[in-house]
Amino acid sequence: MRDFIYQASPMRVVFGAGQVKCLPDELDRLGISRALVVSTSQQHEQAERMVRLIGARAAGVFAGAITHTPVTVTDRAIDAVRGLDADGIVAIGGGATTGLSKAIALRTDLPQVILPTTYAGSEMTPILGETRDGIKTTQLSTKVVPETVIYDVELTVSMSPRFSALSGLNAVAHAVEALYARDNNPITSMIARKAISKLAIALPRISARPSDLNCRQDALYGAWLCGICLGTVGMALHHKLCHTVGALFDLPHAETHAVLLPHTVAYNASAAPDAMDSVATAIGARDAAEGLFDLAKKLDAPLSLAEIGMPAVGITKAARLAIENPYWNPRPVEQQGIRDLLVQAWCGRRPQQP
Ligand code: NAD
Repeated sequence: MRDFIYQASPMRVVFGAGQVKCLPDELDRLGISRALVVSTSQQHEQAERMVRLIGARAAGVFAGAITHTPVTVTDRAIDAVRGLDADGIVAIGGGATTGLSKAIALRTDLPQVILPTTYAGSEMTPILGETRDGIKTTQLSTKVVPETVIYDVELTVSMSPRFSALSGLNAVAHAVEALYARDNNPITSMIARKAISKLAIALPRISARPSDLNCRQDALYGAWLCGICLGTVGMALHHKLCHTVGALFDLPHAETHAVLLPHTVAYNASAAPDAMDSVATAIGARDAAEGLFDLAKKLDAPLSLAEIGMPAVGITKAARLAIENPYWNPRPVEQQGIRDLLVQAWCGRRPQQP
């Protein structure tokens, strides 16, 4: 075995069905007596439920989180923190809400309790992406790592079967890229294999039976593990390409991951054979890229960039931008290769290895 470094995160995780009931105790543990509850406007009602649950420990609600964490929204949330004299944050929602919570924590050092309601995995990472004047930048800081995460499977049941599938494939992408990360290590790889197989089994079952709590629990467990992968090793071509085309054409986050994953995996296959074997085994397929494509198809996820709104004329520009400041990747990132990949993904063709 080669030498390696593994950095675990100090956060506390409470996992299970109905565990939202632990929120008051978790706030007491952290000494939070005036929490600001944050959410998107779509999840305002869930935020109000948290207020009712924590009673006098609630300072108020800020239901203004939106995707890509614009700093203008964060500034308004900080005004709310100050105006309400809040001493902690409770965030209930997906990556957009967690992003806002992290942005507040970065600026105030307030403790955070996150209740994830999707499979995006942001709650497990020291990564914060923020948008200023339309430009998204990403930074790493331990200040944004939440103190406590409560994974209550019941909070995820309201995700539609379609969004569950997309969000699950978004999570799978974190674990897949962890297997060929430059700084990969046996602990994260072990977690990644388990994460992929949990989700590969649970997601089709959720499509068939969206209210089945056992499948939901397996998917949430898998998503948590995928988040650990994202938080402990560096990501590569797939994440870079998703950010590039997502920002260029304002594409939806989870959908972009779902469409591109089989194609980025095909691009990297020859350069990371062991990782590909692990992915194929974890999803029970002969080939990693084809297996991921088949999984997306089985889940009725979109298969082409065209159907999620990317214009064909954007392919060349996206390929050019994707090779600027590339993340480390097992296979060199070359413009023509990326262009070919994007053509395949734009058309939604079954991935082919070069
Ligand atoms: P999201 O948080 O943007 O949510 C999408 C929509 O679904 C919102 O309207 C939300 O309110 C709603 N929603 C969430 N959970 C729901 C539920 N259980 N039932 C019904 N509706 C629900 O989507 P996401 O995919 O979770 O997060 C995407 C964002 O997270 C992106 O901005 C992405 O960049 C960020 N992200 C960051 C990291 C990180 O480590 N920093 C990791 C993953 C994702």
